[in-house]
Amino acid sequence: QGTIIVQVRVAPIGDEYILLLADDRTEITRTEAMRTDFVANVSHELKTPVGALSLLAEAIEEAADDEVAVRRFAKRMEKESKRLSALVQDIIELSRLQSADVVQSGEAVDLNAVVAEAVDRNRLPAESKDIKIVVGGKVDNEVYGDADLLMTALRNLIDNAIRYAPEGSTVGVGMRTRDGLATVSVTDQGPGISQDEQDRIFERFYRIDAARSRQTGGTGLGLSIVKHVISQHGGEISVWSQPGQGSTFTVRLPEMEQSDSEDEAGVEPA
Ligand code: ADP
Repeated sequence: QGTIIVQVRVAPIGDEYILLLADDRTEITRTEAMRTDFVANVSHELKTPVGALSLLAEAIEEAADDEVAVRRFAKRMEKESKRLSALVQDIIELSRLQSADVVQSGEAVDLNAVVAEAVDRNRLPAESKDIKIVVGGKVDNEVYGDADLLMTALRNLIDNAIRYAPEGSTVGVGMRTRDGLATVSVTDQGPGISQDEQDRIFERFYRIDAARSRQTGGTGLGLSIVKHVISQHGGEISVWSQPGQGSTFTVRLPEMEQSDSEDEAGVEPA
């Protein structure tokens, strides 16, 4: 990019080139601004639990003789440490994503198996809220990509559904193939999301209700990680929701063509 700038300055060729250069610069400035924003947001988000931990440690020291108070502060310390650890984990995941090259390092992935495992890994939190996860359908073909990243994305969606849904409700996970796309939907009976918020929830650190998100162990990064992973796989994510009527998040990924060898294997010898 630096080279282009020097070339155009030395020998401007025409309006078109000058315009192109202006565009490039805007893009660079935008990326830099986004990076600076992200660092500022991360610092802010990290400060909250770190500050709380330090205050709680002081409180414990002062309340040394009051066993009940010490226990209460210790419990809160545990919660803040978990929050800090979830945040650090999500930040690492995001930076790992930035350097991941799915096109280079991908392979054929059985999405049915990935979904089954993502559901399995959410069984415990679901049970603790008496939530039933109902899984149905299947996709026809493999998708190309990184199974670990896809697992992270689907786990995040199911994790959100469980966290925002009321106790005793049902979370649905549906799979199917439609128009050559592997489609996975996660439906919950939670509070729903208004039209205005639907456009924003995929932004980093955006939360409709920060207190609620924090209380349920959220970091505000989950959906931005999901969106990143899915777009790296050439797919799309969308949300259908109405306040009071739950939400459905749908992921669509291009399926791989069925290979010839598989076709042949499927034909029974006469
Ligand atoms: P968080 O860690 O706060 O859940 P996410 O990036 O996963 O962060 O989600 C962003 C926000 O979108 C959440 O804070 C929440 O307000 C909203 N949200 C996400 N999933 C759901 C859902 N299934 N039902 C209702 N609101 C949701």
